[in-house]
Amino acid sequence: MTKYDVIVVGAGSSGLMAAINAATQGAKVILIDKNPRPGRKLVISGGGRCNVTNRTTREDLITHIPGNGKFLYSALDQFDQEDIIHFFESRGVALKEEDHGRMFPVTDRARTILDTLTGELEELGVEVRQRSTVSKVLYDKDLNQVSGIELENGDIVEGKAIVLAAGGRAYPRTGATGDGYAWARAAGHTIERLYPTESPILSHDALIKRNHLKGVSLRDVRVTLWNGPEHQKSLVEHQMDMVITHFGYSGPAILRTSGHVNQYLHDENAETAYLSINLVPNLTEDEFKQVAEENRNKQMTTILKQWMPEKMAEEVLWRSEIEKTAAFKQLTHAQIDSLWNNMTVFTFTAYGTQPIEKGFVTGGGVSTKEVNPRSMESKLMAGLFFCGELLDINGYTGGYNITAAFVTGTIAGQNAAWTSFSL
Ligand SMILES: Cc1cc2nc3c(=O)[nH]c(=O)nc-3n(C[C@H](O)[C@H](O)[C@H](O)COP(=O)(O)OP(=O)(O)OC[C@H]3O[C@@H](n4cnc5c(N)ncnc54)[C@H](O)[C@@H]3O)c2cc1C
Repeated sequence: MTKYDVIVVGAGSSGLMAAINAATQGAKVILIDKNPRPGRKLVISGGGRCNVTNRTTREDLITHIPGNGKFLYSALDQFDQEDIIHFFESRGVALKEEDHGRMFPVTDRARTILDTLTGELEELGVEVRQRSTVSKVLYDKDLNQVSGIELENGDIVEGKAIVLAAGGRAYPRTGATGDGYAWARAAGHTIERLYPTESPILSHDALIKRNHLKGVSLRDVRVTLWNGPEHQKSLVEHQMDMVITHFGYSGPAILRTSGHVNQYLHDENAETAYLSINLVPNLTEDEFKQVAEENRNKQMTTILKQWMPEKMAEEVLWRSEIEKTAAFKQLTHAQIDSLWNNMTVFTFTAYGTQPIEKGFVTGGGVSTKEVNPRSMESKLMAGLFFCGELLDINGYTGGYNITAAFVTGTIAGQNAAWTSFSL
């Protein structure tokens, strides 16, 4: 039976990079995946365009990975977002930068990224076994090291080092069904609580039940999650777009806040999370009053419409107990104060988010405390390596998750190869 230097389980973003990097070191590598083709999540990422990384500073990158971004410091010293850009550009894939540093292939096709990775595998002679579900990772308990994997059909594949790149639990139809957690647990690893991140928020708010704001998009608003109904402390703030849906709230600012909402509800054992929207984060109270004063004869809806959609303006006026046909000159000081308050602290609540399966990224996973940050090797089992979303690492949308997958995959692949040579 062939014994491989490195077995990589999972041909997603992180596993593809791991296999390439292990083979580049000269290791005999096999890449195993249950899907008929590799990179099923990668090709649908970024709306089919693949937001492949983010051109930003090291510190900013780490800040945008709220789930254990700091664990990546030493990995990023070896391979970072600029190296990802270089990896693709040096293979003839032109990338372009969009807003907020987001990097995409110029072709606007995720397939370009996937084809580059699979082309590289072929060139390096990596054996790729598709339609093969791994059921078990085999450990030699006496030597406390890996020995191979077992497939669902009973086949055994032997290997000196194993890279687990089986992903998280988000979008399970892509193959990411959370199989890797049991294998890590069997090696003694702790799995930190799994929860949805980058997931739409669910709400029982009256405005959601009434359904009249469904589909209203709010541009460049600031969403704040508070530590309670009194709004004493802001836990997190994000200024981006958002949208009101029939079940709650969604859009970039909401997705970024969602993981924090789940953590808050869990940590506080609370049923409700308290949030607010600043609908005019770039406007001061004085500027608002000046503009309103200049238009004092106009109806309030007309004045507010320059900053927000008409339906939202009507909702804000309703909350402020102001007739939508009232002119600014008719308002009392108390009404103006109330209006400004509702424009800047438009409160809403959440009772949870869509489940992990419907979110974009899994929060929680294999505890980073038990993984060597320089090599991605298990601290508990020799020859066992982790990468990608299986780890307790999660980033915001914006290219941060694929970056984390490529970075940890690269480091895990290289180190798995080097370890296999010494075993
Ligand atoms: C719709 C969507 C869009 C996204 N867009 C972006 C984006 O533009 N930019 C960004 O940075 N992030 C994006 N993300 C997140 C990002 O795609 C993932 O975080 C990243 O791909 C995870 O890579 P991974 O290698 O850990 O896992 P995956 O890519 O999920 O790969 C895991 C692989 O393991 C295989 N596998 C699992 N169990 C077994 C088993 N038992 N036997 C054999 N094989 C197995 C699966 O078939 C799968 O191929 C998006 C996520 C979603 C859902």
